[in-house]
Amino acid sequence: MKTELPNLPIHTVLPDIQYGLNKHQSIVLAAETGSGKTTIVPLVLIDEPWLGGKKIIMLEPRRLAARMAAKRMSDLIGDTIGNTIGYRIRFDKKVSGNTKIEVVTEGTFIRIIQNDPELANIGLVIFDEFHLRSIQSDLALALCLDIQQLRDDLKIMIMSASMDSSKVAEILGGAPVISGKGRCFPVTTHYLKRFSSDYPVQRTIKAIQRSLAQDTGDILVFLPGAGEIKAVQGQITGDVLCLPLYGNLPQEKQDRIFAVTAKRKVILATPIAETSLTIEGITVVIDSGLMKVPQFSPTSGLTALHTVPISKASAEQRAGRAGRLGPGICYRLWLESEHHSKADFLAPEIIGADLAPLILQLLRWGVSDPKELQWLDPPREGAVLQARELLIQLGIIDLKGTLTDIGKKAGALPLHPRLALMLLYGKQQGHGILACRLAALLHNRDLFRGGNAQQSSDIEDRLDILDLFEKEGATMVRARGADPSLCRRILKEALQYQHILKINDKEETKSHFHESGNLLAIAYPDRIAMRTTGTSQHLLASGRGAILPEGDHLHRADFLVAAHLDGGKKQGRIFLAAALTLEEILFSHAHLLTNEERVEWTGSRVECQSVLSLGSLTIKKEALVNVSPERILHCLTEGIRQSGLHCLNWQQKSRDLQTKIQIAHEFAPDQWPDVSDQTLAKDLSWLEPYIGSLTSLKQLKKLDLHTILLSRLSWKKQQKLDDLFPSHYSAPSGSRIKIQYLPGEAPVLAVRIQEIFGATETPTIFDGKIPVTIHLLSPARRPVQVTGDLPSFWKNTYPEVKKELAGRYPKHYWPDNPLLAQATARCKPRR
Ligand code: ADP
Ligand code: MG
Repeated sequence: MKTELPNLPIHTVLPDIQYGLNKHQSIVLAAETGSGKTTIVPLVLIDEPWLGGKKIIMLEPRRLAARMAAKRMSDLIGDTIGNTIGYRIRFDKKVSGNTKIEVVTEGTFIRIIQNDPELANIGLVIFDEFHLRSIQSDLALALCLDIQQLRDDLKIMIMSASMDSSKVAEILGGAPVISGKGRCFPVTTHYLKRFSSDYPVQRTIKAIQRSLAQDTGDILVFLPGAGEIKAVQGQITGDVLCLPLYGNLPQEKQDRIFAVTAKRKVILATPIAETSLTIEGITVVIDSGLMKVPQFSPTSGLTALHTVPISKASAEQRAGRAGRLGPGICYRLWLESEHHSKADFLAPEIIGADLAPLILQLLRWGVSDPKELQWLDPPREGAVLQARELLIQLGIIDLKGTLTDIGKKAGALPLHPRLALMLLYGKQQGHGILACRLAALLHNRDLFRGGNAQQSSDIEDRLDILDLFEKEGATMVRARGADPSLCRRILKEALQYQHILKINDKEETKSHFHESGNLLAIAYPDRIAMRTTGTSQHLLASGRGAILPEGDHLHRADFLVAAHLDGGKKQGRIFLAAALTLEEILFSHAHLLTNEERVEWTGSRVECQSVLSLGSLTIKKEALVNVSPERILHCLTEGIRQSGLHCLNWQQKSRDLQTKIQIAHEFAPDQWPDVSDQTLAKDLSWLEPYIGSLTSLKQLKKLDLHTILLSRLSWKKQQKLDDLFPSHYSAPSGSRIKIQYLPGEAPVLAVRIQEIFGATETPTIFDGKIPVTIHLLSPARRPVQVTGDLPSFWKNTYPEVKKELAGRYPKHYWPDNPLLAQATARCKPRR
């Protein structure tokens, strides 16, 4: 083993690191970039006594970084990769019995720790580039801290050149923070001089061309994603080697960036080149200032990639790539004034992520409430609830929140629980290969995206292309507007899934594509969609709307499963879907269906239906027979209550009766029923005997409310009613004057003063118990006075009134003593 390590700044703090880890359970290493954290520190710690011969695991945020760190360390000690130092990433590993340092991706680490919850053979877990704060690394830290409670010999070291060290140290129980200088050559930074309205791709191309003309050395360009990289790549001409670098690129192609070549290199990279990597020859960095981040929309339940401006920390890292091995230049394609308004760091992923995968892993760990663990930023409660709901819907946990058998299996697969479930189900149904291809298709960029937008959204068209690629090769595929290298990658990934699930090519007859809908419905039950009648819109089972592009042949399908759609505010747009039939839903997804016997008030009648629904979708409706009369009655009375009592047929006669009974009730509540609208509406039992088999408002209107109300009174009271509530008053003048009965008021007698001369008592009703209110009128029937006490009126008010009225109506009779005067209906009494 070569022990001569390059002399790097980290050496000055190595003793502190060794001492710190010897004395403490955890430490924070905040040394600057280029100091040797990633490639030197693990090597130096291999033989530390406190490791007790156990292994070191180092977590890297990306696959490329993991492989490169393992390679560099192996090179430094003159060993072959996979011997003393190995790596383990999704679908690939190089480790052996001798391996003392394993560099792993964060996702892989979660699977390791789930299979070995004590990390029995591990003495130290190093979190590298921790500032990136992926949800996986937050979860990994929470689980490691949990293990530390049992194993005080398990050490944790968190490394990053740019993080909030004190906050991290705090969660590690007050761990010491070791900082150190980096090794970075000076980098001259240039900003845009004036605002540019060019699209990022155009702007970047110009910057590359300018730099190729005026600078020397290789160029590293940062772009947000593979799409932009391809667009730029096609435009760079001249005697240069233009190399793409993004996560999904095959390893061989990724590794080409490290090759030493005679030509000048222009490397077009996503943020995967932002950290960890040292690429020899790079002296210029061109930074578009953008990156893609997954953003989960709680309203849609969907995650979509959004292009956002990078943080200051990222910009720093990117510029630093130009000064790894010598002085360099960095072109930032934004204004210096814009730079100041950039965020220091972007929010950690856990803040805005879909938590379903996290919750599933926690359940596998035996934790049902995230609060049982320690977090730098705890998962948000609303998102946790939402994740649980999805897991229940998928059948991964039961209603009590316990993992089901299939849930346990899904959690062990390196995929989102949705897709994991689809693979398991597909295998069980004999459609495993198809399921693996679908999963790989969904996991990658669309085969048709970019340049072939007129293609349909049907995922079966993509399956078709994969078949074509296998049978006829790249040319045919290209002619159909698809990307052959992407086909190759997707097929490879599908094979890897087949491998993990032990799906045998030979045992399985090739499934028909039309099983796609069925399989996707397992993964996306909430995105089963149905066309809304009369529109081109689809309604998703989740209740949201989504639009399928016009002219898409999937419009012909009765149902769809929309696997990819964007999480727009109100309405999503469907990008990738498969057709589904009613029969398939009924046969294969019956567990998603609810059958409800609905007895509902429509506003005019009771409707009895049997309704089959899938979430918000109404799949089938049938008229329901044999509904119990009680249920209908209950619904109908509820309907009357909703519509209000006035929906019944109230005629004047029944209203009058109601008023009279109510007046009686107010006077003698214990003897007369309360028949106010309010009370009648509150309890409709008085009406129920008459409803019988009625079901509609139209029928209800035929009910005779007068008879119904009357029947609430005893026979005796019914008989007495006319006496108690006389319809007219016989005035001293001889006129019969109508008594007005108004709801909620005392009965009213409106009468001209002259007609009641001589009336010494206030007229009454109800056996003399209720005085009427007299509205005294002038000879022209204008209201003059209201009184409930006639004697007092004659005595106190009449003289005044008389004076006034006598002036206005001189021809009329205005006696001085009204009590003795003769009443008259005319101008003056007849002599
Ligand atoms: P840190 O993790 O602290 O940023 P690294 O351990 O990645 O630092 O690298 C420390 C130094 O080692 C770099 O500045 C660079 O000079 C050198 N180095 C690292 N990897 C390579 C490599 N693959 N080829 C050449 N030099 C490298
Ligand atoms: Mg590093």
